[in-house]
Amino acid sequence: MDITENGDPRADATKPTVVQALASTPVLTAACGYAHMACVTTSRDLYVWGSAASGKLGLGLAAKEEECYASLPVHLPLRPQNRPLLRMVSCGAAHTAATTTDGELYVWGCGDGGRLGLGREGLATHWSPKRVDPLLEAGHKIGEVSCGNAHTLAVTTIEDVWTGDGTNRMKEKQGGLVFAAGSASVLGAFHPGFDRVLGELATVQAVQVSAGFAHSAVVTADGELYCWGMNDDGCCAMHTKERFLPEPTLASCIYSRPGNLALARPARQSSCYGGLDAHVGVDGNCDGSSPDLCTSTQQDPQAWWEVDLGDFANIHVIKIWNRTDEPADKTMARDKYSSRLLPCWLMVSQKPYSDEVGGGSLINALGQSVARHQFTREKRCMVWNVPENISARYVRLQLEGFNFLHFAQLEVFGIIGVQGSVGKCSRVVCGKHCTVAIIRPLSDPSDVNRVYKRAILADAQNADILRERETFALEYDKYGRGGKDIECIICTGGQKCENCLMKERFGDELKDLSLGAGGRVLTLDEMAEMLLDAPKPPLNFTPKVVVDNSWAGKLAQKLAKNKDESGGKKGSKVSPDDDQSVATASSKGSKKSKRSRSSKKPRGGPCAPDAPGAGWT
Ligand SMILES: [Zn+2]
Repeated sequence: MDITENGDPRADATKPTVVQALASTPVLTAACGYAHMACVTTSRDLYVWGSAASGKLGLGLAAKEEECYASLPVHLPLRPQNRPLLRMVSCGAAHTAATTTDGELYVWGCGDGGRLGLGREGLATHWSPKRVDPLLEAGHKIGEVSCGNAHTLAVTTIEDVWTGDGTNRMKEKQGGLVFAAGSASVLGAFHPGFDRVLGELATVQAVQVSAGFAHSAVVTADGELYCWGMNDDGCCAMHTKERFLPEPTLASCIYSRPGNLALARPARQSSCYGGLDAHVGVDGNCDGSSPDLCTSTQQDPQAWWEVDLGDFANIHVIKIWNRTDEPADKTMARDKYSSRLLPCWLMVSQKPYSDEVGGGSLINALGQSVARHQFTREKRCMVWNVPENISARYVRLQLEGFNFLHFAQLEVFGIIGVQGSVGKCSRVVCGKHCTVAIIRPLSDPSDVNRVYKRAILADAQNADILRERETFALEYDKYGRGGKDIECIICTGGQKCENCLMKERFGDELKDLSLGAGGRVLTLDEMAEMLLDAPKPPLNFTPKVVVDNSWAGKLAQKLAKNKDESGGKKGSKVSPDDDQSVATASSKGSKKSKRSRSSKKPRGGPCAPDAPGAGWT
């Protein structure tokens, strides 16, 4: 029975076809389910069409009689009075859900398995839209909703909320909570009503949810992707040996947000007052409402505090949480304690800072830093967005004047070593046994430049792939497949990337062939093939001796000579680095010779680091 009168006969559309009935109505967003569809127009009205089975069109009991359908879009009012403005709609296999701009959630259709989230009493079919009141009563404003086969996910909107007062006052983002209702086969437990999804999602803010056939995914405000449920064919971004993920699990292959690298790392300061040593500043507690919660130096000239991250890190953001308590004596300035921090300098270095106090200590520390920032305005949380691609290990906070240095916490957000992720996820869609994650396009030209260079430095072949994308057209014209004059940006903080290590190790073999016909840069495949096919050296092969005349080489030669003299009997022990003594062991000639031939100073190439360990011996 066609409940839209004078509807067109049902027929398959073999190509994208305009829905004539809505041709003159601008549509904001649309959703497809199993044999039904819905859309929200720009005037925030809801239209539904397709199969009305199990009440999924929400058109009331009229559709209950027999197998019904609507061949034309039908306007579906959610509530007769105070017409709610629709925000979005989502269609499942046998149910539908929609949210309003006021944060209300409406559901209708098949309630089997608890997918409507209307509680234990709501497991039957609901032929008309029903508002989910418990969420509303708890003060949750629902932003997005997603219907799967037998479950529904919802996420609350994120809003700016002011908290605290005085210097304590700061803006916080609140919301982004994920709720789920439905079957245990998807969610791990039966949820007849909407329950909050916790686990790893308890501490992050979600911006979007997607419910698939039997799995779920969430995108966070930081761009992370979490998946859980049935991992059929690896649709939860996990190895297929994991058949079911009961809790949201980070898809780290896409992106993981930088962690606080300073937490519990070794810290020190120019002096210590009242036993409040430097480690209080990295104990994880950002609360500065009492002096006991803050680090404190004596009153020092240019008092300083610093932390060692333990390794070179690509640093993104540094946050300082200031002391916030006020003097008990009301005749004193309210900001007596919190203003002591200013003016101050925050800086990062690849070498340890000296432990001198006063004198030229600030100038010297700033001089050896790879990046620095001055704070002059007092805030509860002071933030430094470190310039891009800064790699450092030591972070120092230093006062300009003569005072006590105290603060509650210093957090360093970044990534140790080379960042391996694809990029921030902006949207996810779950299907049946598959997931599509969308990585945000790069709008900043410097980002485009950086990713293009990274790609071709990793493998020249990537240039052939990227040139087909309009985004990279300018980059292709500029850099092509790359060449010797591009500085490697994959190597960071004195650590060489695998590619540069390979090129250095097989320098001689690659030297003459690194540029193919017409100056063409070899791909990784071509390099590998060439190295594997290279003729083996003869058995009586003696590697050429390369004299390293750098200071590091001379020092190493001197040390080796001393060792020989003091060691007496030579040949009894062979150091693995002592190539010359190994070279005559011809059985290992082929492999060893390559290693020994590379044992000269680094090629004067772009990647030669000026960091410790540069003078390879
Ligand atoms: Zn490199």
